[in-house]
Amino acid sequence: MSAQKTIHVGGEWRAAASATTREIIDPADATVFAVVAEGGREDTDAAIAAARTAFGAGAGQWPRTPVAERAALLRRVADLLQRDREEIGLLESRDAGKTLEEGRVDVDCVSDAFRYFADLVMNESGGRVVDAGSPDIHSVVVHEPVGVCALITPWNYPLLQASWKIAPALAAGNTFVIKPSEITPLTTVALIELLIEAGLPAGVANIVTGAGDPVGARMAEHPDVDLVSFTGGLASGTKVMRAAADSVKKVALELGGKNPNVVFADACETEEGFDTAVDQALNAAFIHSGQVCSAGSRLIIEESLRERFVAELARRAEKIRLGRGTDDGVECGPLVSVQQLAKTEAYVASALDEGAVLRAGGKRPEGKGEGYFYRPTVLDQCHREMRVVREEVFGPVLTVETFRTEDEAVALANDTEYGLAGAVWTADAGRARRVAGRLRHGTVWINDFHPYLPQAEWGGFGKSGIGRELGPAGLDEYREAKHIYQNLAPRPVRWFAG
Ligand code: NAD
Repeated sequence: MSAQKTIHVGGEWRAAASATTREIIDPADATVFAVVAEGGREDTDAAIAAARTAFGAGAGQWPRTPVAERAALLRRVADLLQRDREEIGLLESRDAGKTLEEGRVDVDCVSDAFRYFADLVMNESGGRVVDAGSPDIHSVVVHEPVGVCALITPWNYPLLQASWKIAPALAAGNTFVIKPSEITPLTTVALIELLIEAGLPAGVANIVTGAGDPVGARMAEHPDVDLVSFTGGLASGTKVMRAAADSVKKVALELGGKNPNVVFADACETEEGFDTAVDQALNAAFIHSGQVCSAGSRLIIEESLRERFVAELARRAEKIRLGRGTDDGVECGPLVSVQQLAKTEAYVASALDEGAVLRAGGKRPEGKGEGYFYRPTVLDQCHREMRVVREEVFGPVLTVETFRTEDEAVALANDTEYGLAGAVWTADAGRARRVAGRLRHGTVWINDFHPYLPQAEWGGFGKSGIGRELGPAGLDEYREAKHIYQNLAPRPVRWFAG
């Protein structure tokens, strides 16, 4: 594939039909470091047509490929990712502005996702026999691929989010068109190359690089697409859902979060407990400069612990080393774009206007040139009426709210239109389970923050989305259930006398 031929349709790499290109910016210094094809409606229609032909009403080569062969291909992809780990990790670091180590970890997680879905489909039986209440009836529920899948992904974990869709879609026997974020398309293009190298038939995996509108919008509305799986912001997600309505596609949405990190004073009674809770609160809020859908951006802390905890958190936040993700000793990269930087600055300004107290950060760092860096920021004395507490910033901004009772802590943690993830820190095992049980969030951590498992469903309550990725439900998103009812001894029913 040459630099500007980043559209893959029906087994062939192409430039955009319009010959338009887009420059990809390195967020650490705002320079152009790659050029990709800027696809449009024509390219999108061609990609969907190729995926449709390859699916062939379920009779195409890939949907009919035996499960064991599909699983073997997914495992080959995992091996190829490990072969190219350094190269792809570096590309992800440069494109998304994360540290090189984060880029490498992302590649490992992507390999794990491919292996997990390979194992999952292999371990399934060929269907679920249902007792129809008669020895003359054989009744079985089987699964079939949905068809042509439109996959739309964001810029914060470009490769990881792509793999959570591509691996189950392929495991289930679908064909697809993927549109990565226009800001960070490079590793998804690299992944498509690996799928081809692993032996995927032409037309099964298609990619169109380009903008949300027209490319993503066209994918969501196109009558020949059977399913749209979208990860991104709430505003774009609602547009996708509306666009998908006319053709009644299956819709899966992984949207934003405003995730509470609830800390009870009893978690910090020992020095070790205090150190761990502060360290993890820092990690929850600031890893990848807070550009994480599950970022613990709301610290909800017991009033008696507030001053000591926030002082130490702010001290450590001020020491976080910002820089280019490949430089030695760097702990945090830049924001992904100048727009994301401006958005973060605007949220901090509005919070200060509304009465928040700045404890750390609140500005761009010195000496970082044109890069889109912003200091990790701690805002104390926050309350739910503030925009910064209600809306997703998607930057390195942590707000602090306090509570006095367990009920108050739960009420605050659930007081969000989102419901993606949240954590509770406590040394009291009963309280841990009580609070975890009452949180209206798709993932709840007890005395931890951020881990996920490929075997466990990921997704949100409320406006954090519809459906689940990962786990068995993450495979079911990409399948239709079919009930086959066979009468072994057919006789007239005589409902009508005739
Ligand atoms: P975004 O909504 O701006 O873009 C996401 C994708 O949608 C991009 O590929 C974009 O080009 C495309 N898009 C934009 N408008 C579209 C339209 N009208 N029709 C179809 N596609 C369109 O989001 P972003 O800024 O790239 O990513 C950040 C958001 O993603 C945050 O809100 C974050 O919480 C969310 N996110 C959620 C999860 C999760 O698992 N729930 C994971 C990662 C990111």
